Amino acid sequence: MTREDIRNNIEMIQERIARAARQSGRNRSEIRLMAVTKTVDESRIRYALEAGIDLCGENYIQESRAKVEAIGSPPQWHMIGHLQTNKAKYAVRLFDMVQSVDRLELAIELDRRSRSAGRILPILIEVNSGGELTKSGVAPEEAISLIRKIAPLENLSIQGLMTMPPWFENPESARPYFAALRTLRNRIAEERIDRVSLRELSMGMTDDYEVAIEEGSTIIRIGRGIFGERKY
Ligand SMILES: *Cc1c(COP(=O)(O)O)cnc(C)c1O
Repeated sequence: MTREDIRNNIEMIQERIARAARQSGRNRSEIRLMAVTKTVDESRIRYALEAGIDLCGENYIQESRAKVEAIGSPPQWHMIGHLQTNKAKYAVRLFDMVQSVDRLELAIELDRRSRSAGRILPILIEVNSGGELTKSGVAPEEAISLIRKIAPLENLSIQGLMTMPPWFENPESARPYFAALRTLRNRIAEERIDRVSLRELSMGMTDDYEVAIEEGSTIIRIGRGIFGERKY
């Protein structure tokens, strides 16, 4: 992918986001486009930034360290991959938000490290909407109880939910999972848990982001659609 390819991809995605927002009666400004930069080298990330990207997502602490330190901010950086508890201190140092909080033990460690760093860390709760054994995330029926336990941790700030549904050939098949995450969010919001905001719904990737926008997504996470197929 050349600089031009990346710019064209982003422009096309921006148009499709605007169209999906319009068609579902939503305001375009409620939806953020994240460039998922796992396996993507620094120069191609810089092309995306030149084309207007202001939010990047990384999956692995090891891989993101050098990139985040070299590129700096802007953009904002979000952790979207499975996070081991013993890597929490790096996550607090490197990221503006951790979207993949799925257990109390990890939240406690992120809170402790954030306190030492003198910051409040925004987080999302990752929900395993498809119940797949290979995916991380809290089970939907356990999300409320996990949020109640994390809410009092003073150096964390819950901002919403994140999910990665099962992969389908047809993006329409992902719709019920996106709708279920929105319903879960609304149900938890009704509980009015102290210190908890549920504004953000991080859902939708290269193959299904328009469906996710129609179902209320506020952060779509796009990798291949911007940078092409990943080479591991
Ligand atoms: C890799 C990844 C994405 C992006 O996937 P694409 O299909 O390349 O758009 C989004 N979210 C998470 C959590 C990922 O790991």
